Amino acid sequence: MSEIICNHCGRTFEEDNNHCPFCQTPTPAQQDKDLDAVKKKMIIFIVGISIFCAIMILWLPRDIP
Ligand SMILES: [Zn+2]
Repeated sequence: MSEIICNHCGRTFEEDNNHCPFCQTPTPAQQDKDLDAVKKKMIIFIVGISIFCAIMILWLPRDIP
């Protein structure tokens, strides 16, 4: 068990906490995890939009007057 110092309030707490128990600031490791989750969601969103656009391009008539 090791302790880390909170970036926000400067108090120490156990490393296995995901958030500071005093001010609820996420630890750097937890922030990285949150960022990874956001990145994965963004990639899924962008891929979904790309597939939707590809389907629409193929489905819509090409010779619009
Ligand atoms: Zn704190």
